[in-house]
Amino acid sequence: MSTVIIGGGHGGVQVAESLRSGGYQQPITIIDACPELPYQRPPLSKDYMKVDFDAAPLPMREENFYADNDITLLRGTEVISIDRLESTVHTTAGTFAYDNLVMATGARPRQLSCEGADSSGVHTLKTLEDAVTLKSLIGEVSRVVVVGAGFIGMEFAVAALKHDCDVTVLEFADRPMSRALSPYTSRWFAERYAEHGITMRFGEGLSSIEKDSSGRATAVISTSGERYEAELFVVGIGVQPNVEIADEAELDIDNGILVDTHLRTSDPRIFAIGDCASFPLLGGGTRMRLESVQNAVDQGKHVALQILGDHEPYIVTPWFWSTQGRYRLQMTGIVRPDDDIVVIGDPEKKKFSVLAFRDGELVGAESVNQPADQNIVRRMCTEGIPLHLEDALADEFDLRSHLKHAISAAA
Ligand code: FAD
Repeated sequence: MSTVIIGGGHGGVQVAESLRSGGYQQPITIIDACPELPYQRPPLSKDYMKVDFDAAPLPMREENFYADNDITLLRGTEVISIDRLESTVHTTAGTFAYDNLVMATGARPRQLSCEGADSSGVHTLKTLEDAVTLKSLIGEVSRVVVVGAGFIGMEFAVAALKHDCDVTVLEFADRPMSRALSPYTSRWFAERYAEHGITMRFGEGLSSIEKDSSGRATAVISTSGERYEAELFVVGIGVQPNVEIADEAELDIDNGILVDTHLRTSDPRIFAIGDCASFPLLGGGTRMRLESVQNAVDQGKHVALQILGDHEPYIVTPWFWSTQGRYRLQMTGIVRPDDDIVVIGDPEKKKFSVLAFRDGELVGAESVNQPADQNIVRRMCTEGIPLHLEDALADEFDLRSHLKHAISAAA
């Protein structure tokens, strides 16, 4: 019963590790298109961009981990197609048979389609190679335009500021990180960006890119007709899941490879996890595709358990983090813009949490420089410890005491 894993990112490597630690004796093969030893992606837009940081990126596991655990890691090898009838995958290095197949193919940055999109000097940030290129340029330019105020765009914008660049961010929405953050936290960040000197242009998308005679980008024109000159342009307008080989194998696709509550695709011997998978959130009806390390890792662990014979559904409270200069942002649960919120801590001192409530019950939280609050909320959401909106609104409310009381009451 061999397992083949397509993709050696955060999810794929986790499946292999959890299979071995769970006692799986059969062959495990990870096939990854990247030539490098699998590395952690989050530092690429954070520590790696720091002025004084010149260390190599962090490997996900040390090189000997794979041999020590009898895991075959095929680097620089691309899976071209899946033959479901033969139970094989065809790759640039030959054909491999599987009993269980795990799709952990991740996602790639969405590309621009506007006039001038093919200019040189317009970059995205996904791979180590991208990070090396951007790191080499960031210290040499004086003006940077970032298109898209999502997490990666803003992490890069903050990093560019530290390199003394003039930074302008164009964002079509009216606030940063709007897909994931409550309006309150989003606007709090917008104020900090402005304070630190980033020019934020909300409500402005990208219309076209101007280039010089050598084909190099020189300016962007926004949807409101403004022109922004720069020497470096970074585009962070979201990602698109890598579903092509799954689609050609006629697995069900809809903004990601569709999986059930056990993370199985429409073919029960094929699983999909991480950025490429659309799964039923908390076992319920809402489908989501989450782009986070925690999601890929937790789904990787879950699939390993399924292969080892477990039949529990996948029910995990999502969480995510971003580090932007001195601000450590952490999120638990999926917070919606219309959720009721209660702010605890001190936003002026840049240490606070936003508790989110739906139908009067706690559904998640966002914290800035308050990791202790996140640990509490994560525990409450995971263990189903309730918090009612009216209790959180009380003057004497304290999150830690609430948890303590709830635990002793349950005991
Ligand atoms: P990936 O880690 O993307 O791995 C997919 C792998 O599949 C890749 O190595 C790819 O080469 C390979 N592959 C694809 N197709 C094929 C094929 N046909 N054949 C062979 N191999 C293939 N998340 C957080 O939670 N917090 C953060 O702060 C954070 N910061 C980030 C910063 C950056 C710059 C980036 C790019 C991402 C960040 N993320 C962050 C997101 C996080 O890295 C992803 O959600 C996570 O890597 C998803 O894991 P995955 O295993 O699904 O996919």
